[in-house]
Amino acid sequence: MKDRALITGASRGIGAAIARALAAAGHPVIVNYQSNHAAAEQVASEIVQAGGQAELCGFDVRDATATRSALDRLLQDERPIGVCVNNAGIAHDAPFPGMSLADWESVTRTTLDGFFNVTQPLIMPMVRRKRGRIVNIASVSGVIGNRGQTNYSAAKAGLIGATRSLAQELAKRRVTVNAVAPGLIDTDMLKDAPVEEMLKVIPMKRLGRAAEVASLVRFLVSDEAEYITGQVIGINGGLV
Ligand code: NAP
Repeated sequence: MKDRALITGASRGIGAAIARALAAAGHPVIVNYQSNHAAAEQVASEIVQAGGQAELCGFDVRDATATRSALDRLLQDERPIGVCVNNAGIAHDAPFPGMSLADWESVTRTTLDGFFNVTQPLIMPMVRRKRGRIVNIASVSGVIGNRGQTNYSAAKAGLIGATRSLAQELAKRRVTVNAVAPGLIDTDMLKDAPVEEMLKVIPMKRLGRAAEVASLVRFLVSDEAEYITGQVIGINGGLV
């Protein structure tokens, strides 16, 4: 039996694809979501129909207390959580002079407080077992920046820094920590974006698919990826 895997923001988009891919690889998955219970339930029921195992666990990753109590409940299960994919993320783009404090805080708190709130309680059980996989979903925007995304780039660059430091702390304990930095992926996040303009700058001239990002994550959590840690792996059609 493979380790249980928690995927935050798995009701839609990239997170849902990761949940499906990890379940297909044999991991019982925990499908986290913020508010879209129906979509999360749909993801879980598709996984179960395909022969996998899935449970739902809704909480807002920004809320330290709610996240802690949800994780405490999950950790009571005798099956350890050996995989954590920090995928929950939002974008509230605006040119910096017009960026509100709310835009700044909602984006940075989801990515950075979310990373801390979710990952920190899961670490000691992984360390004790000398086994674990953390994958943080960053972005090309956190690697090279993007106009109108000062908040989002700062959050994702911060997540990359956290990935590198935590990887160094945990390497001896055989817990790997990596970041995946997608380019432009066809999900709800791009629904108001100028996709035609964006395609011009992508060498492959197409958006990425959530399932493609999920395949990379599936590899990073596999036993074959044991020697990969502290890395930021791009998946972007040649954008950088
Ligand atoms: P999406 O389709 O908008 O889905 C976002 C997911 O995150 C949903 O499941 C949502 O839950 C959940 N979520 C948002 N805030 C949350 C919170 N506070 N607590 C718990 N869950 C929360 O986004 P996506 O495109 O799949 O993006 C997934 C990740 O990839 C994000 O970190 C994003 O920054 C990153 N990324 C995306 C792209 C892209 O082009 N799409 C590119 C680079 C990086 P509800 O359904 O309940 O709202």
